[in-house]
Amino acid sequence: MAQPKYRTHVGMVDILPGEVEKWQAVERIIHEEAKKFNFEEIRTPILEQTELIARGIGQLTDIVSKEMFAFERGDDQYVLRPECTAPVVRAFVGHHLEQRGGTQNLYYIGPMFRAEKPQKGRQRQFHQFGAEILGSDDPIADVECMAFMISVYDRVGISNMSLKINSVGDPESREAYKQALIDYFTPHKDELSEVSQNRLEKNPLRILDSKEEEDQPFIEDAPVIGDFLNEESSQHYAKVKQYLNELGISYEEDPHLVRGLDYYTRTAFELISPDLGAQDALAGGGRYDLLVEEVGGQPTPAVGFAAGIERLLLACKEMDIELSEPKSVDLYIVTIGDKARSWAIQQLPEFRKKGFSATMDYAGRSIKSQMKDADRENARYTIIVGENELNEGKFTFRDMEASEENQLPLDEIYGRLKKKL
Ligand code: AMP
Repeated sequence: MAQPKYRTHVGMVDILPGEVEKWQAVERIIHEEAKKFNFEEIRTPILEQTELIARGIGQLTDIVSKEMFAFERGDDQYVLRPECTAPVVRAFVGHHLEQRGGTQNLYYIGPMFRAEKPQKGRQRQFHQFGAEILGSDDPIADVECMAFMISVYDRVGISNMSLKINSVGDPESREAYKQALIDYFTPHKDELSEVSQNRLEKNPLRILDSKEEEDQPFIEDAPVIGDFLNEESSQHYAKVKQYLNELGISYEEDPHLVRGLDYYTRTAFELISPDLGAQDALAGGGRYDLLVEEVGGQPTPAVGFAAGIERLLLACKEMDIELSEPKSVDLYIVTIGDKARSWAIQQLPEFRKKGFSATMDYAGRSIKSQMKDADRENARYTIIVGENELNEGKFTFRDMEASEENQLPLDEIYGRLKKKL
């Protein structure tokens, strides 16, 4: 075959018919579970101000240029959103959503963009669903977030996964911990990966996230934040574990699980699938009590998670989970001649109004090809209509599954469709 003239960018994929039905099934489950947990959907633009996203990351320009799709237009700096927490917080602050009262339980589904090196489970355009609870520092909020997240995987049928949790404490305990990490890693600096060497001074917590082989032995023996937590953070963490136990949600404590950015506080969690290979994180989340203020709002405690839909689908594939039915249509009208074609065009909307899916041949093909097409479209029934049928007011109604045919008037056809579908 000839090379196509145009292609998608590297790391960006088309989701084609046959695959898209799986997405629809997952999205339906997310919406349904969100409703059960009383989360409301929020939709924010794909483009954000670069400053919102880059804020607080430190090494601002470096991260933006290496890891994000960013561009300028006039005086404005745009970035394709790499995640949705900051955009949701921006919307929360900008629209004063706190004035609606109570906690704001929000969820989203949509594409995110990161200029990473593509590999299995890692794309440049990928999709996340996620949720944020703004306005509560109660450990119940943390656990509700995790429960909502897990409920989606449970509904999909993914059972092989593990929830890892940790507490990253408050800013003071983190400062002490950071120093301890710097003291610990510095003597081994030359043996660490290049990325980790760069992170050592600025953000040593992120070394713990490293997947680089050469970092692993040092990470294993690194100090753990649990030893640096103050009383309040310890109690909060104890409550999170207590509620998880009470809900029967199993988890493993991972003392090295940290979220690298400074606005994260207390609870951190990750959902891992052993079926995914190197990119094994299905979802991650945690508490970020300092972010709302950083984005310009009143201090507001908050917790949330983000989950990758591609990875959820990969896990389904590994586990042979069928998410959607093969395509089908209730009725296919096979036509012989022009009069029959006009009749069919007029009848299609009537069938559709009554709730049936219905189609016909659009290409003026022979009866044989139309019957083949009906098969390919997985039609449950066909009506075969030509001039004789129109004159007599009786049509050939074929049950494709049973291979049975009857000559029936239209009202009887409707009756049968209603009974059988
Ligand atoms: P993060 O926002 O980095 O915590 O990511 C949350 C989840 O989004 C991860 O656990 C993955 O499931 C998914 N994810 C993150 N980055 C990518 C990517 N580049 N390609 C596909 N999925 C991703």
